[in-house]
Amino acid sequence: MRETRGISRQQNQPQGHYGLTSPISLAPPSDVDHAHTQKLIEAMKPFGVFEDKEKLFQRTAVLGKLNNMVKEWILELAESKNLPPSIIEHLGGKIFTFGSYRLGVHTKGSDIDALCVAPSHVERSDFFQSFFEKLKNQEEVKNLRAIEDAYVPVIKFDFDGIEIDLVFAKLSMPTVSDDLDLQDDSCLRSLDIRCIRSLNGSRVTDEILRLVPNLENFRLTLRAIKLWAKRRGVYSNIMGFLGGVSWAMLVARICQLYPNALASTLVNKFFLIFSKWNWPKPVLLKRLEESFLNLPVWDPRVNPSDRYHVMPIITPTYPQQNSTYNVSISTRAVMVEEFQRGLEVTDEILRGKSDWSKLFEPLNFFQKYKHYIVLTATACTEEHHLNWIGLVESKIRVLVGNLERNEFITIAHVQPQSFPGNENLYKQSGFVSMWFLGLVFKKVESAEKTNVDLTHGIQSFTDTVYRQASALNILKEGMKIEATYVKRKQLHYFLPAETLQKRKKQRVSDVSQSHSGFQCKRSSLAESCSKSSSSRAPSNSSLLNKISKLDTSTAETERNVACQSCSDANSVAEPSTSKGLCIPVTDPKMEAPVALRASGPPVGCTIPGYNTVSQLRTCVVQGKHKLSGTLFMDPKSASPKQHYSPSSKVSRPPTPGECPQKAIDGEKLNVCDSDATESRYPQDGRRRATKNGVLDGKSMQTPAITSRSQRLSSKELPDASSPVPTNSIRIIKRPIKLTLNG
Ligand code: ATP
Ligand code: MG
Repeated sequence: MRETRGISRQQNQPQGHYGLTSPISLAPPSDVDHAHTQKLIEAMKPFGVFEDKEKLFQRTAVLGKLNNMVKEWILELAESKNLPPSIIEHLGGKIFTFGSYRLGVHTKGSDIDALCVAPSHVERSDFFQSFFEKLKNQEEVKNLRAIEDAYVPVIKFDFDGIEIDLVFAKLSMPTVSDDLDLQDDSCLRSLDIRCIRSLNGSRVTDEILRLVPNLENFRLTLRAIKLWAKRRGVYSNIMGFLGGVSWAMLVARICQLYPNALASTLVNKFFLIFSKWNWPKPVLLKRLEESFLNLPVWDPRVNPSDRYHVMPIITPTYPQQNSTYNVSISTRAVMVEEFQRGLEVTDEILRGKSDWSKLFEPLNFFQKYKHYIVLTATACTEEHHLNWIGLVESKIRVLVGNLERNEFITIAHVQPQSFPGNENLYKQSGFVSMWFLGLVFKKVESAEKTNVDLTHGIQSFTDTVYRQASALNILKEGMKIEATYVKRKQLHYFLPAETLQKRKKQRVSDVSQSHSGFQCKRSSLAESCSKSSSSRAPSNSSLLNKISKLDTSTAETERNVACQSCSDANSVAEPSTSKGLCIPVTDPKMEAPVALRASGPPVGCTIPGYNTVSQLRTCVVQGKHKLSGTLFMDPKSASPKQHYSPSSKVSRPPTPGECPQKAIDGEKLNVCDSDATESRYPQDGRRRATKNGVLDGKSMQTPAITSRSQRLSSKELPDASSPVPTNSIRIIKRPIKLTLNG
């Protein structure tokens, strides 16, 4: 099913050209390229990126069973609704696959993204009721849960041990035949927006496959890039890096530009092109067509908020969207730095000076920075913990954004992987997860000492999380988060020595599991809270005209890159200055070139009565700090407050968090609004256990926290319509301040 559906062209002989511009090079592969590609395959094997035939066969069998179940259910429904026999005879119904499985790049143990397409007599509620029941009665089905109120509603389950995410769309036609083609925009006509979103995944994936000249080369290259991105800590849509579909589109663009190249060359060209890309120029796979449907589409000429997207990678089907909404200035800078490293390493490899294993060496995150923030999320029970970390994780990019806006911080780099708390923390506080953010401070030249106050950025992040937890009515006794500033040498209080050491030879048995951090199923909380609707006005002007300008500039960028690379195949020209990125660009090896002194012990933002971890941690770290004799500072005595104003950083565009649409505390206006992208696509939250109904706020138990000091004032609540939770919490504001020595 996966290999051929809808892709009707010869794979080995590209016809014409693909994409917006003609190729940069049509050079056929040499023997050396074949040898390099073979070595690349060998280097990838230990990471479990290739699934064996038996497992593949099992996946096909599972999808076949599921397809039959869908047809059977649609028939049963039609009979129960007394449809005429003439219709019943041709009802049909079909399962489509999309995402990495459909692209043919899934790894061992990865899930299958699937779409159930039904004819018009089937309602969405039927899918979540009678089809859900049908799945429940299937003995091969385990871990069944429905997330009906997500941006893209989904039923998740394991079928014969294979994880499936199943979304639903009903078409406005009475029958769904086996040869139905979803690529035709007319299939979107008169559909409910949730169905359009559900169809979008499949339409995008199939279009990507159509837009690459050679599927085999595309797949191998994409596997290599996905593995590299996971190893280097830049694979995570939810944390502000890129998710699977964005990486796929970037690789597809490279395949278009070098249609005859093999994977070894394509990987190298990937790093060449994207390390020099003039972000925020968008990456487009094809000229975008207008449609009569008038749906909201990504278009910075019409939607002011789209102008703030810093790394646009646009999906190729109508309604086109930017798949990288969460990317910020910091995460983009981290990725560009990794592209540059990728280019250096692959240049070396292709010159025979190194081998592919070097490309896949893990990022040495804990050696990279001098300054870190440790974020801990704690809960009393495993189930609470899974829900809690799902929410916290979905908000970490808010913290990154807040830190980015601090005038002294140039980079706030979050490591997407989380770490479990140690045994002591477990005994003290229950279930603990930790995330780490590396910080780079701006060089302060004029002043001898500069005080940096992180309190506000951290506090507003923790406020956001608690506020959202309250709004969703999921806050439980013992749930807390805290953020602590530490220096690199203090990291050993939180992490075992093996983790902190250079991990060159670290083995990754299953990279598909590793990038999301916590090795367990994730709550779909973040998904459920996302019912965002676009507030954009539909475009009435000609999209074709508008996009043609983007085309030209994109083409120019690539031509420039091409010229640079042609002029000297081995030594590549310096990156052009990106007009959109004007914060001081960090040198890859740059650490804060200033002596940084913590003006007090690492302190967390704590909740009174629930801060055992904080007390423990503060106490332990304080022990080490006694020599410095510094005192915990009073907030009032804090020297210069963080004073961010748009003009203080005029040289960079605002981050998505600063978009006009959301600037005025989007969380308060609509707690779900800012989650549009992170939870639009359920894979971001799929690895945490969710029981049926656990995401339904109404079914959650209200915890018995009654202390007065723990009540939120009404103005801290997300919006007037949110239920006032009895477990409201008042957060004590404690300062996190540092002194930079000039
Ligand atoms: P992975 O191997 O990590 O599962 P994937 O290629 O399956 O990667 P997912 O992130 O699982 O990609 O997404 C599945 C599909 O959902 C994509 O193919 C895409 O069509 C749609 N999708 C996911 N995230 C986005 C996004 N940010 N913007 C647009 N579409 C998205
Ligand atoms: Mg997927």
